[in-house]
Amino acid sequence: MPAPNIETIAQLAKRRGFVFPSAEIYGGLASSWDYGPLGVEICNNVKRAWWRWMVYERDDIEGIDTAIIMNRLVWKYSGHEDTFSDPLVDCRACKSRLRADKLENHSGLPIEQAIAAGAVKCPNCGSTDLTEPRPFNLMFRTQVGPVAAEDDPSALAYLRPETAQGIFVNFLNVQRTARRKLPFGIAQIGKSFRNEVTPGNFIFRTREFEQMEMEYFVRPGEDERWHDYWIEQCFNWYTGLGLDPKNLRLYEQPPEELAHYSKRTVDIQYRFFPEREQEEKQWDELMGIANRTDFDLRAHSKGPVDAEGKRLNPDSTEDLSYFDEATRERFYPYVIEPAAGVNRSVLAFLMDAYTEKESERGEKRIVLRLHPELAPIKVAVLPLAKNKPEIVRMAKEIKRMLQPAMRTVYDDTAGIGKLYARQDEIGTPYCVTVDHQSLEDEAVTVRDRDTWQQVRVKVAELTEHLKKRLNLKC
Ligand SMILES: [Zn+2]
Repeated sequence: MPAPNIETIAQLAKRRGFVFPSAEIYGGLASSWDYGPLGVEICNNVKRAWWRWMVYERDDIEGIDTAIIMNRLVWKYSGHEDTFSDPLVDCRACKSRLRADKLENHSGLPIEQAIAAGAVKCPNCGSTDLTEPRPFNLMFRTQVGPVAAEDDPSALAYLRPETAQGIFVNFLNVQRTARRKLPFGIAQIGKSFRNEVTPGNFIFRTREFEQMEMEYFVRPGEDERWHDYWIEQCFNWYTGLGLDPKNLRLYEQPPEELAHYSKRTVDIQYRFFPEREQEEKQWDELMGIANRTDFDLRAHSKGPVDAEGKRLNPDSTEDLSYFDEATRERFYPYVIEPAAGVNRSVLAFLMDAYTEKESERGEKRIVLRLHPELAPIKVAVLPLAKNKPEIVRMAKEIKRMLQPAMRTVYDDTAGIGKLYARQDEIGTPYCVTVDHQSLEDEAVTVRDRDTWQQVRVKVAELTEHLKKRLNLKC
């Protein structure tokens, strides 16, 4: 049983220190969130699991970490300055700003004509007095150096809206220094920024977010096969970390939804909105796997010319084509791109792990059945009697013994029933309890989060026992 809705997770996240509204003491900022002590751990765990799977456990992928603020020309030639925008509409009656492509349009007409014909209503006030849609660029503008960009256009820069472009402009740097032959990939994790018109739904869509992207370079003609391969790999990555396949599906983007660079894009969707009546509306994007063709490498190259022989990119100093030694051919590789959001993945993992269970006393208990790899805390050491100094001392020693091997906490601020419930609620796979008996037999009780079953384990064997059961890879 996953969480009934995102709101349930948002409340739990705030109450337990996963996610707080950003700068809440000043009233917050729309769609900005701060990650607390447990939130930073689960985010790091998701990123580590992705990096290990994508980079360490393969033979064909390198990592990179590129700048957030880059030369503006990157965004000129990537097409983002011209086309990275949402169609924006204003309601003249209530002044709300709306995304034209998200408005309910049952007229059968294209959205521009439907608005002009008065067939589209403002979802906030019901008025049909809407402006014509106009493009609104989603990139955050900033300036580099002390002169305002209004006075000196060369000072204009953007916060990157995707990590991918940092990879494309370094394609040859990586290929040469790592001596790579096709096919190979470059992976990056980092923050990106999009000035979304309508962010929302907790951490589902935010203006500042963290991406995990990998660009996989292949020979043209082999792109479709690799595309299918990566769709399957990515789907299995999520289920391998505990997402129920029943709550995942593949979504083929129709031609009108495709980004300007894409030949085909398949989204892995998660059932983020199970409360919605219409089944079709319950799903939204978790990860996108795009075939970007040779669009980006070509666009950033000084080589290509148009029909009149004019260089398409007069600013680039490099040709980003690839020379195949074996076939003596030169060409622009095609690119398959699996792109996921860290924050949105965390939300899916939290929603899917959420379960409610009845305790022996008939109380409702929340248990987060997170995969051990993702759980913020792996083990909690709890003394059964906190007024007994020998028990407390022994419990603290056990905590220190375990902490180099796994994330461990100590807690003695409540009775044992409440301590267990707290750990269940944040997804801690194991609790270790030190009791009176422990002082004599040098053994402790290990309790399982999912079954609530307890076993007695010798302290000398405890680290190995937990390591084996947690089966952590990093
Ligand atoms: Zn309105």
